[in-house]
Amino acid sequence: MKILTVVGTKNTGKTTLVTMIVEEMVKRGYRVGTIKHTHHDFDLEGKDTWKHRKAGAELVVGSGKNTFFMVNEQLSLENILKNISNITELDYIVIEGFKSSNYPKVSTTEVKDDFTITNVDVFKIKPEDVVSIVDLVEKRSYDIIPGADCGECGYKDCIEMSKAIIQGKTSEDKCKMRKLKEVELYIGSKKIPLNPFVQDFIKKSVMGMISTLKTEENDNINEKIELWIRNLED
Ligand code: SF4
Repeated sequence: MKILTVVGTKNTGKTTLVTMIVEEMVKRGYRVGTIKHTHHDFDLEGKDTWKHRKAGAELVVGSGKNTFFMVNEQLSLENILKNISNITELDYIVIEGFKSSNYPKVSTTEVKDDFTITNVDVFKIKPEDVVSIVDLVEKRSYDIIPGADCGECGYKDCIEMSKAIIQGKTSEDKCKMRKLKEVELYIGSKKIPLNPFVQDFIKKSVMGMISTLKTEENDNINEKIELWIRNLED
């Protein structure tokens, strides 16, 4: 799941650009999700879900033709990305906002930082510009930053490597940890980087343990396996 952010000040066309990028990605056959960062409340006053929240519910789920989950707190971007990857498999997440994140940015103003892949004037944009932007995003975007800072890619840490991807100097597949994602470990909402050896060790241990269980799911395991350890005190 590669990540792109669309950043810029108010009324510079961020939402318009997000929809254009999403449409082009979907046209290319990608499965895409979006995140919108805002300082406002998403729930409309007077709606039933708003009343549920007002009554003190910490989590409200709207279930109908579509389903939404509303948590009564602001989650970090990493936490949101983790939850998305638990719910579904996507090729891209396009984020509107989160301008201080370390993910690739398309900016709707002239402001640049180390993670800006291009700046766009949305009011002058042409359809062929959107095609070029998505071409660039395909080459310069990356998945959740592993955070192991092992230096095996030749860069001092994962952030430096991420900047090099943005500049087109390297690619994500030069990092074994980014490439190999068979096993992921989270403690709370923090992702713990696992090198390929540890991933393989955990996978074989869990698969070995599961193979001893008498369950028909055992016959042909080719799905994601989830193991939760709730380290609760007595
Ligand atoms: S090899 Fe991967 S995990 Fe290690 S520093 Fe480079 S990007 Fe980070």
